Amino acid sequence: MPKDLRATAKILQGADLAREIRESARAEAAAFAAITGRTPHLRVLLAGNDPASETYVRAKTHAAAEAGLRAETRALPVDVAPDELLAEVDAANRDDDVDGILVQLPLPEGHDTRRVLDAVLARKDVDGVPPENVGLLQQGRPRFTPCTPAGILALLEANGISLPGRRAVVVGRSEIVGKPVAALLAARDATVTLAHSKTTDLPAVCREADVLVVAIGRPAFVTADFVRPGAVVVDVGVNRLTAERELPKALEGSASIREELRKKGRALVGDVAFEEVARIAGALTPVPGGVGPLTVAMLLKNTVLAAAIRLKK
Ligand code: NAP
Repeated sequence: MPKDLRATAKILQGADLAREIRESARAEAAAFAAITGRTPHLRVLLAGNDPASETYVRAKTHAAAEAGLRAETRALPVDVAPDELLAEVDAANRDDDVDGILVQLPLPEGHDTRRVLDAVLARKDVDGVPPENVGLLQQGRPRFTPCTPAGILALLEANGISLPGRRAVVVGRSEIVGKPVAALLAARDATVTLAHSKTTDLPAVCREADVLVVAIGRPAFVTADFVRPGAVVVDVGVNRLTAERELPKALEGSASIREELRKKGRALVGDVAFEEVARIAGALTPVPGGVGPLTVAMLLKNTVLAAAIRLKK
């Protein structure tokens, strides 16, 4: 890389903070077990055989077990009938031994995702966003803060990034990431714009941001011309490339991604064109290694919280 184009952004790695959060979940789980004689228990419902979902679920249950939680995966075949999946949700709802339920998305074709998520008991729903939990979050009294948004806010805080009065732009309005991130940033007194696929002149809107959060699922979509010099950029996207011909224009010149593709046959990239944005942003999260580890860590916190909430009932 030419000297004048060297990265200037501080790279916001998630690993250390994720470790701290997992350790704190471990201590809370141990305290819960000492009082109740039982271990906080997470049940993951995984329908189908999407390789990315299988990897995520393995990472989540492994991290849970390492933190001393009980975690199990109900693996359901790709052709599981909608009624059977709903029956699994119902069984987990009724099982008094299960504290937290996570339905791994995306579901195979033929399932009504909203109907399945709505079926999960709000007090056990550790990452989905049932209307009751969304309402509580919007009113500034969250029951469970969805894992990825909670991780993003924790990362900003841990790096001393001040939010009151600053302009924040969130690109992507999913229920699970974009909307709750926008609500949390507004609750921290940032002035928030929620942008999406119909936003006019998205680069100009993004350039207004002191803090730019991108969660759209489009590889390297956000390039340097979307970023105000010195802005904090949080890249939530996780996109799997499997061949050099899939490289978006902004990554065509990336020797490291080409090498990864040649060596491993796949590469994970974010929604932000990392190398060029790192030359202009003040801080930037990497993919992988930024937001992802925090999502997993927050799932453990939420599972312990779910166990504690049920205890109080
Ligand atoms: P999603 O449900 O796939 O929705 C995508 C959002 O992006 C929609 O609101 C859509 O706008 C918007 N969008 C799509 N193309 C756009 C464009 N060209 N310009 C502006 N906005 C555009 O989103 P998600 O579930 O939040 O996932 C987003 C990404 O984050 C994915 O890559 C996912 O894998 C990743 N993710 C990562 C983590 C983690 O832990 N790191 C966790 C969750 C998700 P409309 O509403 O107008 O259609």
